[in-house]
Amino acid sequence: MLLLNPAPKAEAYDWVIVGGGLVGAAVAYGLIQKQPQLRILVLDGNDTDHRASVGNFGLIWVQGKGYDFPAYANWSLQGANLWPQFAQQLTLVSQIDLAYQRQGGLEFALTAADLDALSVEMAAMAQHTHGEFEYQVLDRAAALLLQPGLGDAVAGAIYSPQDGQVNPLYLLSALHTAMQGMGVEYRARCPVDKVIALESGFQIGTCTSNNVALCGGLDNQRLGLQLDMHLPVSPVKGQILITERAPSGLLNYACPQLRQTAEGTIQVGGSHEHSGLDDSTSLAVMQTIAADAVALMPALSQLQLVRSWGALRVMSPDGAPIYQASSRYPGAFGICCHSGVSLAAAHAGPLSDWLLGGAAAPQKTLIEAMNNDRFCV
Ligand SMILES: Cc1cc2nc3c(=O)[nH]c(=O)nc-3n(C[C@H](O)[C@H](O)[C@H](O)COP(=O)(O)OP(=O)(O)OC[C@H]3O[C@@H](n4cnc5c(N)ncnc54)[C@H](O)[C@@H]3O)c2cc1C
Repeated sequence: MLLLNPAPKAEAYDWVIVGGGLVGAAVAYGLIQKQPQLRILVLDGNDTDHRASVGNFGLIWVQGKGYDFPAYANWSLQGANLWPQFAQQLTLVSQIDLAYQRQGGLEFALTAADLDALSVEMAAMAQHTHGEFEYQVLDRAAALLLQPGLGDAVAGAIYSPQDGQVNPLYLLSALHTAMQGMGVEYRARCPVDKVIALESGFQIGTCTSNNVALCGGLDNQRLGLQLDMHLPVSPVKGQILITERAPSGLLNYACPQLRQTAEGTIQVGGSHEHSGLDDSTSLAVMQTIAADAVALMPALSQLQLVRSWGALRVMSPDGAPIYQASSRYPGAFGICCHSGVSLAAAHAGPLSDWLLGGAAAPQKTLIEAMNNDRFCV
């Protein structure tokens, strides 16, 4: 009798998430929270992959996000407003303190003209959000009251109480701990080469799934094409510097160039460089970043730098997220975003509702306003 090895049985899932960075992990956590019976598999890439999730600045930022894109302005604000409850619950489930703070943020202007330009953007955001985005325009004297020790170069600032910060590494670790604790299966070093659309569902390696969410960061452009989705993301490098620990309270507020971590170090950044997939640091750029920081806060010149790195942003052409449902292959989605920290609560919350087909009409309209139609001219 001829004995044949049986073909390996495909493992069947309700959802396969490709990519276990901040976006994929937040989505998986959101899906399993909403429907605990779902069989969810997260396939993550290799340790050497570019991972914005482990190289970012840790801001939960609203100011300026979407001043020229009303849906994004509302989404950013909603995401930041969901953060306090999200952080509380995630901390409870994972037992990891995220070092989340929402003390507000300052964006500094070096000239009166810069302050005017920022004021125009903030007014647009307030208009898009029907007055829900809160901010104050501060002249130099008012900015000094909030943040003593500012350099002579600072002409003023915008303050928003809705900005905050978190330790992004603790956030990623907490999402992984929580999602796996709730039943999500996670496989590291399992890069997905191909996603094949079947008559019903998808084949990914030896697995089949009813749904697939592409959360592969910079690899989403390649993966998206396989499912007829245009996900135009490209790398934008940011270099970040870390100082030795400073007395707590040196910085009262986070800002796009500076934040004081819970441990006391000052994080200084970040450049915006179009250098392809090169994520190395360079002395010239680090010197510029350091000089700009000292111009804002001269006391920083007394601190030693202890660490630096470069990381690649997952950038869409307009900087806003892309939330795409494949019209050709129902059940396939592409999720790309440059604000994966700020939007983690939105991804675990309303975006997961949308993926499950359960988003209320206004929420659905808001999310779908951020699909790729806006790039088709
Ligand atoms: C310098 C810098 C500063 C930033 N500052 C902030 C900030 O202050 N606030 C904020 O909100 N955002 C910030 N960001 C952006 C934020 O980090 C990103 O939006 C977020 O990390 C994107 O997460 P992601 O999961 O989409 O991508 P990534 O972190 O790149 O993760 C993608 C994951 O997918 C995996 N993968 C890739 N290809 C495959 C494949 N084929 N198969 C399986 N797995 C795959 C990778 O291994 C990786 O784990 C910053 C980014 C940078 C670089």
